[in-house]
Amino acid sequence: MDTVSGTAWRPAARVRGMGTSIFTEMTELARATGAVNLGQGVPELASPPALLRDVADAVLAGANQYPPAAGVPALREAVAAHQLRRYGLAHDPATEVLVTTGATEALAASVLAVCDPGDEIIAFDPCYDAYAADARLAGATLVGVALATDGDGFLLDPDALRAAVTPRTRALILNTPHNPTGKVFTQAELAAVAEVCREHDLTVITDEVYEHLVYAGLPHLPVSALPGMRERTLTVSSAGKTFNTTGWKVGWVCGPAPLVAAVSAAKQFLTYASGTPYQGALARALGSVEEWAAGLRGELRANRDVLTEGLKAAGLRPFRADAGYFVQADVRPAGYEDGVEFCRDLPGRVGVVAIPTSAFQVVAGPRWLVRFSFCKKRETLDDAVSRLQRLGA
Ligand code: PMP
Ligand code: GLN
Repeated sequence: MDTVSGTAWRPAARVRGMGTSIFTEMTELARATGAVNLGQGVPELASPPALLRDVADAVLAGANQYPPAAGVPALREAVAAHQLRRYGLAHDPATEVLVTTGATEALAASVLAVCDPGDEIIAFDPCYDAYAADARLAGATLVGVALATDGDGFLLDPDALRAAVTPRTRALILNTPHNPTGKVFTQAELAAVAEVCREHDLTVITDEVYEHLVYAGLPHLPVSALPGMRERTLTVSSAGKTFNTTGWKVGWVCGPAPLVAAVSAAKQFLTYASGTPYQGALARALGSVEEWAAGLRGELRANRDVLTEGLKAAGLRPFRADAGYFVQADVRPAGYEDGVEFCRDLPGRVGVVAIPTSAFQVVAGPRWLVRFSFCKKRETLDDAVSRLQRLGA
């Protein structure tokens, strides 16, 4: 509701018509219909028990007041150590690492710190819904560059990327591993992206929240490790997906000190700081994340296979998902040209909720793609898969 009768109230242009996110809408639909929710990427999987105990202990020990605005030093050090150990990227924890309220705040604060009104930001389409919203809050515009598809996976089109750059382009948001497609950008694709960013002096904001969830035996490659990229890149990640703690909202951003200082300037007036008892506990968990993540990857990889096979058996055409939480499927074999219609009918027809990929599209793309999430308990997936067979496609 945009107006209130009897008053002059109307929302500011920067939020007008934004409504509620597709995730809220679909989770509510699942709740209202009793359908299995394969819409929102909210994990049903366990967290490391020691991490949970550490947080409980920290709360009881009184770690309940504001942390330093930039984050608890132990977590900033653990993030710096993680980036060095895994990717060979050195950061000064005092000036080049900032703890945020989830990746969501890191992304918003980064866009606010980098972009002036009128600027353009490039992102590969379909893309996570926060990017267009963040651009809009900054008075900037998100320009989508459609990923191509070969019927199996999603591919960068370097010519389309080049064609999207204008004199107004200030930044590029790169999400790998990618939501909603499960794509992992290859070394060659990252090199092509990096070349364009260097050539046009773009700032890169990366979203690497699925960095530990790559299933194809591929390494995660942060773009900031490529030549000439560290100085222009803000690397964003978070604890939510890695430890199945999406409700804690602890994230971080790493980059060169002047860029991180600008992000801190925005961040301090969005939330100032948050999550004191989580931060120290996560610092410890991050120190041994490799062992934990290997187990989680095994579980998610098996879930992906169950869902992919289930979608095939139901007659849909799933795409390859190399990482993350989601499988894309072509729903045309079920008689739908439009994923929105398919998702609207799905709870009533079989009792499953999914998300139309068009909700992630900034530019017109295939209408017939639907996103299904597999970060669920095996029983939930088995239930969803057996319900999907009723589609009889
Ligand atoms: N980026 C992507 C690609 C995501 O899928 C999500 C989902 N939660 C986020 C950012 C937000 O992360 P956080 O929960 O840490 O804010
Ligand atoms: N990242 C999750 C997804 O893509 C949900 C995030 C949210 O609900 N804001 O489904």
